[in-house]
Amino acid sequence: MKNFSWLTASSSKTKRYKLQLKILSALILSQTFLTGLKAQAQPNSNNLSYSELIRAINQGQVVKLQIDESNQKALVTLKGQTSPKKVFLFERNPELISRLRNKNVEFDVNRPADNSAIYGLLSNLLFLFLLLGFLMVIIKRSANASGNAMNFAKSRARFQIEAKTGITFQDVAGIEEAKEELEEVITFLKQPEKFTAIGAKIPKGVLLIGPPGTGKTLLAKAIAGEAGVPFFSIAGSEFVEMFVGVGASRVRDLFKKAKENSPCLIFIDEIDAVGRQRGVGYGGGNDEREQTLNQMLTEMDGFEGNTGIIVIAATNRPDVLDVALLRPGRFDRQVTVDYPDFNGRKEILDVHARNKKIDPAVSLETVARRTPGFTGADLANLLNEAAILTGRRRKEAITMTEVNDAIDRVVAGMEGTPLVDSKSKRLIAYHEIGHALIGSLYPGHNPLEKVTLIPRGRAAGLTWFTPSEEQGLTTRSELLAQVAATLGGRVAEDLVFGHDEVTTGALSDIEKVTTLVRDMVTRLGMSDLGLVALEHESSSFLGYDNRRSEYSEDVASSIDLQIRSLVMQCYNNAHKILENNRPLMDHLVDLLIEQETIEGDQLRSIIESYQKNSYIPVSV
Ligand code: ADP
Ligand code: MG
Ligand code: ZN
Repeated sequence: MKNFSWLTASSSKTKRYKLQLKILSALILSQTFLTGLKAQAQPNSNNLSYSELIRAINQGQVVKLQIDESNQKALVTLKGQTSPKKVFLFERNPELISRLRNKNVEFDVNRPADNSAIYGLLSNLLFLFLLLGFLMVIIKRSANASGNAMNFAKSRARFQIEAKTGITFQDVAGIEEAKEELEEVITFLKQPEKFTAIGAKIPKGVLLIGPPGTGKTLLAKAIAGEAGVPFFSIAGSEFVEMFVGVGASRVRDLFKKAKENSPCLIFIDEIDAVGRQRGVGYGGGNDEREQTLNQMLTEMDGFEGNTGIIVIAATNRPDVLDVALLRPGRFDRQVTVDYPDFNGRKEILDVHARNKKIDPAVSLETVARRTPGFTGADLANLLNEAAILTGRRRKEAITMTEVNDAIDRVVAGMEGTPLVDSKSKRLIAYHEIGHALIGSLYPGHNPLEKVTLIPRGRAAGLTWFTPSEEQGLTTRSELLAQVAATLGGRVAEDLVFGHDEVTTGALSDIEKVTTLVRDMVTRLGMSDLGLVALEHESSSFLGYDNRRSEYSEDVASSIDLQIRSLVMQCYNNAHKILENNRPLMDHLVDLLIEQETIEGDQLRSIIESYQKNSYIPVSV
């Protein structure tokens, strides 16, 4: 046994050794091949071999020999020949020298200033230069990144100048109040005399407040476009730099440039990046930002109303702005740019439909109705998605199908492939029909739009309700209906498949319900705990929202109890509804599996037919 293993070991060793040898010889082979090539490349007729040289010397044929030591060769001039021939020499040639001396041949040694040393030096220098260059690049980069550390004085403010924005008020829709307020600004820019003549001071700054995508930048550009003045724009974050003083000098630069070009409009986007309340925030060390802000305040104080510069700033966090920015003489006008309402959305859609081929059957009104909460940017994106879909389907014009698909896609994500018929498809169908049925039968719920088993984004199935026309206020019973419908999916799973078979599919439903009910209890005064605001949405300077709670542990546990009891109440109601309508639910599930999608109207007519025959109304 032992022997045997030793044998194998040794044999494998020899094998490996052989292999190495093979590789080595291969290497050598390739090397020799290469050098061989090199030698062959030189023309033979002009060469002499060493022995031929010796012979020629002995015969007294050689007139002159020029030895080139560094290249180990020599040029031989033979008797009666003009062009010299090449000879390769050995490294040391004492014998050759003595022979030459004996035969009195003229020879000299060519040592062109020891090349190898020069090459060595040169390559060292080259390396050094490369290293230096590399270092310079790195230094320059980091300097750029941290605000021109090497170049304090001449900080290049990175603002954009547009001589003509080419955007007019016609391109901005759906935010009429904001437009009206800003109409005035255009007159300030165009005809300041009108106001200065009667001693009115022209306002310097306008603050646009609104969620992202509602058209603040667009509005500012439209003002510049309408007034026909240059548009200077910079983002607040451009001012925020590593080094104290850089941001401030950018502000100076910006205002200097603007003064040279007045009348003009300066647009500072995301001003909250630099205009936050001073002396607050985490981590301290806000010196730079404070200096920048101070500089901005000084600049705004510095120019008189008649210089023809108007500063427009935009933010979606007005709550974090420093009060000094908001006092009269600075951003004293504040214009809110809010989510567009139904009419606004329709107008925005009209604006963006102008340059698109849209089928006449498409009703932008319906689209506007389906898209509450969409901003102008969302709507622009929606129509663009619809156009892309149309192109992909090789259609002539955008039809309602594409628009609807685009809405689904924008709201819920990419469409996936439907599941094949299986137990889990059945379960998902029951879950979705649970949502749909509770949403349709519970009093006070928005009407169903459709329920589908085609997955989208991360959802395996989806139930869509038509959003109510935003009247702003929601009643307690409507909220409870929402809670019940959101729980409807889990209720159906539980009812049909049993308590142990419920799935993770209700994860986001449960989260949604918890937040909603928690708000009802702690903020909306809709529980037995009464009209006390127990929690606030506090805006953190770290950029995320966290709840600030102000109550004792006793209250905390009664909050929990209230939440639980509200959720259970809705759950039990939903359970009762589905239990009483089991045949209807089973029918709808079969239909959904067969059709993949049930539209709201179809579902409502089925419910109606059941109501006529066997439906048992449930009071909640
Ligand atoms: P914000 O600056 O408020 O984040 P933008 O002005 O950058 O939003 O809007 C982005 C894009 O959305 C605009 O270029 C425009 O195409 C579209 N958009 C937004 N609001 C409107 C609106 N009220 N009317 C027309 N288009 C709008
Ligand atoms: Mg913007
Ligand atoms: Zn669900």
